[in-house]
Amino acid sequence: MTAITHASTVKENHVRHLSHWMNGKLVEGTSGRTADVFNPSTGEVQAKVDLASTDEVNAAVAIAKEAQKVWGAMNPQRRGRILLRFVDLVNENMDELATLLSSEHGKTFPDAKGDIQRGIEVVEFAGGGAAHLLKGEFSTEVGGGIDTHSLRQPLGVVAGITPFNFPAMIPLWKSGPALAAGNAFILKPSERDPGVPLRLAELYTQAGLPDGVFQVINGDKESVDALVNHPDVKAIGFVGSTPIAQSIYTGAAAAGKRAQCFGGAKNHMVVMPDADLDVVTDALLGAAYGSAGERCMAISVAVPVGKETGDALVAKLAEKAALLKVGPSLEAGSDFGPVVTPMAKERIEGLIQQGVDAGATLVLDGRGVQVPGHENGFYVGATLFDHVTTDMPIYSEEVFGPVLAVVRADDFEAALNVVNSNQYGNGVAIFTRDGAAGREFATRVEVGMVGMNIPIPVPIAYYTFGGWKASGFGDLNQHGPDAFRFYTRTKTVTTRWPEGVSEGASFVMPQGS
Ligand code: NAD
Repeated sequence: MTAITHASTVKENHVRHLSHWMNGKLVEGTSGRTADVFNPSTGEVQAKVDLASTDEVNAAVAIAKEAQKVWGAMNPQRRGRILLRFVDLVNENMDELATLLSSEHGKTFPDAKGDIQRGIEVVEFAGGGAAHLLKGEFSTEVGGGIDTHSLRQPLGVVAGITPFNFPAMIPLWKSGPALAAGNAFILKPSERDPGVPLRLAELYTQAGLPDGVFQVINGDKESVDALVNHPDVKAIGFVGSTPIAQSIYTGAAAAGKRAQCFGGAKNHMVVMPDADLDVVTDALLGAAYGSAGERCMAISVAVPVGKETGDALVAKLAEKAALLKVGPSLEAGSDFGPVVTPMAKERIEGLIQQGVDAGATLVLDGRGVQVPGHENGFYVGATLFDHVTTDMPIYSEEVFGPVLAVVRADDFEAALNVVNSNQYGNGVAIFTRDGAAGREFATRVEVGMVGMNIPIPVPIAYYTFGGWKASGFGDLNQHGPDAFRFYTRTKTVTTRWPEGVSEGASFVMPQGS
């Protein structure tokens, strides 16, 4: 006997079974393949998620194609109202969603709420702004009796492929604008924490979204390849690690579709000698260790300028980082929770060892941390390296764990050079009281999102989010007005209403003047 609860079925052995959300309801997978979903705080497998076959993806695309015809033709303000109702429902269910998110991902409950909140802000922007942002342009008398206007039309069926680290925010960043613009959206969330995406699908349906307009297909490479290669999927929005982002961008382009693919990161914080080091230390603790360092905008490298700044900063960091509490994600008092899987833990600990082997100074070692009562959880404590150089793997690799590396620089130019020489260009911060230095930095740094005395400069919903260099492939950013450009195509209509007299055939290129 199985019972349907909150977008999953609970089997007799109490392990939840997460399947797909298709055409407005849960649909059991047919591929016979599943993946484990852990509770990282306890180490237990808490659910099994179906991994879709190509045939299941094809079925979802066919459903989406039909559903989009009606949705795309709807008045954009009506579409927007459904999205705003969805935002209300997410708010009403916030605690339940944050608990589920925290239990699958491992980030703390307040942080899980932040994940959801930053997501619905984009849906709110998209729902409220759709009618305005989809307006075209009109020019009269571009030739004798001729007018021109432009239309922004939906692409049709679009797909989002999203990472584990923001299981609510990124699916919402992608689906909100795509739906507001009149597309049908297929989400392929991370197989590591698919519970919240399925609940979001249920809430979209509850808000009045027509069946088939938002679907969730769980899966791995097979389902991603099926989406990238399907001729009826017109755009791919991807977020994840750089090698996969790059290969999906290439594959989507070869298949003739629009793609924006955001990749990994290595975010630096430059600390100028005039900065208040107590403020800097607190900012670094939150930005480096919050969410166990599993944020694409986490600061993983501090670049203090000058020996005195470096010595003082490392002393303050060492003292305060040692007091941070890593613990179960749903337990009040945990500063940060476990990392997402045992494989992630093993990888992070391996990179820490490589840092030691390469000669960096391990000031604080988070390996082997014990959380009483949760001995099997995937915990890594706060880790701090000093005297890291840019040729060490602990610097060049994206660690994606609670590990902060200090790379010392002699002066402003050397610090800027460290940042600009890195392969990634997602986020960066500078802490200083010198406006001229801040301005110079913001102008010359080769990074997409810059914080001045702000450690995690994630832009607000009505600006756009996107990294440079190996952090982003494609030429439009996520959310803000760019999202509407990405999820629509422009049609330009040139019009003359006949006045009854033909001027005869013309064989020269039409000219405006
Ligand atoms: P990932 O690349 O492992 O997975 C991302 C998505 O791709 C998932 O849905 C996964 O199922 C799918 N996938 C995995 N392997 C695949 C393959 N071989 N072929 C096709 N699809 C595949 O990333 P992750 O570990 O889930 O997320 C962490 C990464 O995401 C980090 O590198 C982080 O920096 C990055 N990230 C970037 C941003 C950004 O905006 N730039 C935001 C969040 C996360």
